[in-house]
Amino acid sequence: MVDIIQRCIVCGEDRTVGIAICEQFICQPCEQEMVKTDVLDEKYPFFIRQMKQIWLKKDA
Ligand SMILES: [Zn+2]
Repeated sequence: MVDIIQRCIVCGEDRTVGIAICEQFICQPCEQEMVKTDVLDEKYPFFIRQMKQIWLKKDA
């Protein structure tokens, strides 16, 4: 793997480990946080809002 620093769209931090969805980067800590976050968790709407940015950028 090549260490490429990318900005996480969820936390805004520059990181090298994470996943890319539709050319948008989500760091590993955020990805794992999202996976374990329950729909009823207060953080969930935040993740959804951040994720929506991906779709908005994709359509642009
Ligand atoms: Zn992040």
